[in-house]
Amino acid sequence: MSVTGRCLCGAVTVTAAQLPAEMSACHCEMCRKWSGSVGMGLPVPEEELSVTGEVQTYASSSFAERAWCPTCGSALWFRDTKGKNVGTVELCPGLFENAGGARLVREVYADQCPEGYAFAGDHDRWSRADYEAREQFVPEGGE
Ligand SMILES: [Zn+2]
Ligand SMILES: [Zn+2]
Repeated sequence: MSVTGRCLCGAVTVTAAQLPAEMSACHCEMCRKWSGSVGMGLPVPEEELSVTGEVQTYASSSFAERAWCPTCGSALWFRDTKGKNVGTVELCPGLFENAGGARLVREVYADQCPEGYAFAGDHDRWSRADYEAREQFVPEGGE
């Protein structure tokens, strides 16, 4: 059964054929600034997603973009535009009731998390070095 989420003002809706049971969190500097704190994502195949309403995007690097609602500013998704992860959209869990019911399974750039907060629980924690050994990344100081 499909699941629909919406931004704060309701001008944008995103409907996924289904949502994954697992989500991840990222503490990299770009995610911290874009989200206001922690970037979190529910990975969904792009072809299973439908979106209504006006959306704006920002190319945050040469291989990825971030989308938001131009009316209320709600973060909508992050997606790669180049490389092996093209075709997957990381939807912001906050668009959905109860974060879509997903469970946090991975925290990346865990060593970049600000000192004043932390996620509790038993899940994978990848340091910046762990992440950058496996995935595309923007080098320190930009591209
Ligand atoms: Zn909105
Ligand atoms: Zn990040």
